[in-house]
Amino acid sequence: MGIVVQKYGGSSVADATGIKRVAQRIVNTRKQGHDVVVVVSAMGDTTDELRDLAEQVTPLPPPRELDMLLTAGERMSMALVAMAIAQLGHKAQSFTGSQAGVITDSVHGKAKIIDISPGRIEQAIADGAIAIVAGFQGVSQDTKDVTTLGRGASDTTAVALAAALGADVCEIYTDVAGVFTADPRIVPAARKLDRVSTEEMLEMAASGAKILHLRCVEYARRYDVPIHVRTSFDTVEGTWILPDHRSGENPMEQAIIAGVAHDRSEAKITVVGVPDKVGEAARIFETLASSEVNIDMVVQNVSAAATGLTDISFTLPREDGQSAMGALARIQDEVGYDKLLYDDQIGKVSLIGAGMRSHPGITAKFFSALASAGVNIGMISTSEIRISVIVDEGQIDTAVQATHTAFDLDATEVEAVVYGGTGR
Ligand code: ASP
Ligand code: MG
Repeated sequence: MGIVVQKYGGSSVADATGIKRVAQRIVNTRKQGHDVVVVVSAMGDTTDELRDLAEQVTPLPPPRELDMLLTAGERMSMALVAMAIAQLGHKAQSFTGSQAGVITDSVHGKAKIIDISPGRIEQAIADGAIAIVAGFQGVSQDTKDVTTLGRGASDTTAVALAAALGADVCEIYTDVAGVFTADPRIVPAARKLDRVSTEEMLEMAASGAKILHLRCVEYARRYDVPIHVRTSFDTVEGTWILPDHRSGENPMEQAIIAGVAHDRSEAKITVVGVPDKVGEAARIFETLASSEVNIDMVVQNVSAAATGLTDISFTLPREDGQSAMGALARIQDEVGYDKLLYDDQIGKVSLIGAGMRSHPGITAKFFSALASAGVNIGMISTSEIRISVIVDEGQIDTAVQATHTAFDLDATEVEAVVYGGTGR
């Protein structure tokens, strides 16, 4: 049988008991005849604790050293899981991201994988061992320094390894039973999806559904890796995330709407009074790009004829807020805009579904659901299979619940099971 890559999140390996339970699960998979490669996250909230520790030492930890520190979290779990497997009488070897051949660029804190050469993992498999790999880390091709891939990126390590090893499946073990039509913490009547296309999952991840790291889904889509999201606390089937051409095996049965996602991590910047002439938007967004700021929604107003000025608003991760404001302030004279406004009391609510391509009226129904719930829309953006709105932060839950109900997504019986964790 083929290779199975399994990724266990922080809540699954939170303590010694969890580590032993996970080891048993890994051994069971091995006994079924699969070669098993495991990717682990740091135990529980270790990554946050290490961050806090760094901040107690210095308000601005040097990025190189912060990465060195944070990667220690995953190294603890990988060694402990390997020990627990050995205790069960099976061969296991742990590897850091660097040893596993995860080669990245040199952007500390959010490095991108540029290549994987998993020679040592293949060797371990050939030797009959279970390979345990530290998630969320790699080594820079240029500087040879240890890098991290961004919060939650152990998922990405797992899918990238699955692609490089030609694995049959990448199983992502987490603290909820699969992908739900909405966050069960907000909508108790959310339903578990049996399958969802990578295209839809990509939109859900980009819209703030925290179940999978965005880049992991991008990888899965590009390299055709099937993902099975499930809980490590139970043996029930979770959600299969399948390549688009395999997900709608019976298109008649495909749901129109896959789910409602929300995001509390964004902020909005408005550049007020931008001269309406060629090249201004390019200058603004080039500046943001060179500061490594990821932009989400962008809206430009029609310029007022009398003044020849326009406003440009965009959303971005709150954590990039300061560097974005700083970068924009430096080009104020050059661009000639009036002022900058910053608002982080916002949230994004998104409706996602491949079926909306062929069903008219989805936008109208979404907006009227929000209206009936008294939710005001601040910004709108759409893709072929997604509609997103920016609302006041305090109205996110109401907006998600109202939308979920309006699209008949509520289950009659509560089926969602949250097994633990903080949802981080
Ligand atoms: N431990 C890292 C984090 O907390 C990576 C991960 O869990 O995926 O973000
Ligand atoms: Mg995660």
